[in-house]
Amino acid sequence: MSKRIAILGATGSVGSSTLDLVEAAPGDFDVVAVTAASNVEKLADIARRTGARRAVIADEALLGELGHALDGSNCLAEAGEEALCDVAREADLVMAAIVGTAGLKPVMAALEAGVTVGLANKESLVSAGALMMDAAKRAGATILPVDSEHNAIFQCLGDGSCDHVERLILTASGGPFRTLSAAEMAAKTPAQAVAHPNWSMGAKISVDSATMMNKGLELIEAHHLFGLPSERIDIVVHPQSVVHSCVEYRDGSILAQMGPSDMRVPIAHCLAWPQRMETAIERLDLPTIARLDFEAPDPKRFPALRLARAALEAGGSAAARMNAANEVAVAAFLDGQIGFADIAATVEAVLDAGENMAPGSIEDLLRIDAEARSMTREKVAKVAA
Ligand code: NDP
Repeated sequence: MSKRIAILGATGSVGSSTLDLVEAAPGDFDVVAVTAASNVEKLADIARRTGARRAVIADEALLGELGHALDGSNCLAEAGEEALCDVAREADLVMAAIVGTAGLKPVMAALEAGVTVGLANKESLVSAGALMMDAAKRAGATILPVDSEHNAIFQCLGDGSCDHVERLILTASGGPFRTLSAAEMAAKTPAQAVAHPNWSMGAKISVDSATMMNKGLELIEAHHLFGLPSERIDIVVHPQSVVHSCVEYRDGSILAQMGPSDMRVPIAHCLAWPQRMETAIERLDLPTIARLDFEAPDPKRFPALRLARAALEAGGSAAARMNAANEVAVAAFLDGQIGFADIAATVEAVLDAGENMAPGSIEDLLRIDAEARSMTREKVAKVAA
């Protein structure tokens, strides 16, 4: 029987990799819904290609345009947040590939309905980790980590239990500026920051990778997914991105997962879970790779690492505020309003200024998120002036 899949963020980088695998395995998947923020043309094309029955555009003003683009197809055009949540409830598997906290409500809707979620949208977990994990537990929903590092850990855990685990080791490529001094990094442009040496990704995560905030977000993501405290999750820089992460057990064994730097590998793992599927992805050739290097990260040159660990250890709303501030600061950097070094500096200023009250509900969380965004916009405006 084919798996009914909803692809949230179908027009993005993870969405495209998902579609590539789904379209190469006709009969295994039934695409029930695809969604995007504003890219009507691409969304309509995907809906027609996959035979999706529902296509949702987040921007309600574009509903008419989407309806037009789907004329003559069997796909229903829908718009807005409630429709995004609704399609997330009706699948067997939701691929959560919206970027940013915008993905939170649909992910929560899926989890509350007991639907299995392939989670790429790390910002939602960083921001609302405890609420999301609680919702999944209550409804018996499974979260499959799509992020390559967490997917690697998930695979190394085998039976899913952390009972005999001493620590998790998250690997980091170090991003495009791994070897640069802080002063050299400060002069880098958005185009240079998004040019990742190993991975092809969307703009926001590429900048996060350059600041290493991506690894900071992943530290918090790992804490929520696997339930280990900050001091038992290490970060190691591994420039070749061949080892995607490791689990160290209490007897001293370290299990690592290796694979090509291609998001289709962890996505395929989630799509087929608990089985495995064939892929045509180019295989690793170990003699060609020849060597694997590891080095300690440098939180002085990459202050985002320090901020994320401090936010995780502070608990309360710190991670949510850090995530919101980072989203706004990265957008401002991509827009040319602030420099590269201003991203972490702005996030730190917001973290230092806000109150650290733990959110008791999603509404609470969204209020905290909105306040942090507004505070960040003010700080960005000052820096830009
Ligand atoms: P992209 O920017 O390439 O794609 C984002 C997708 O989300 C697009 O479909 C976009 O639609 C949609 N979207 C954006 N804003 C909204 C909104 N407000 N409401 C609804 N939909 C929205 O991002 P990526 O694919 O790179 O990343 C997606 C998520 O996966 C992120 O959380 C990222 O951190 C995570 N991730 C990504 C990896 C990668 O290799 N790219 C690896 C690991 C994790 P539209 O096209 O219309 O703008």
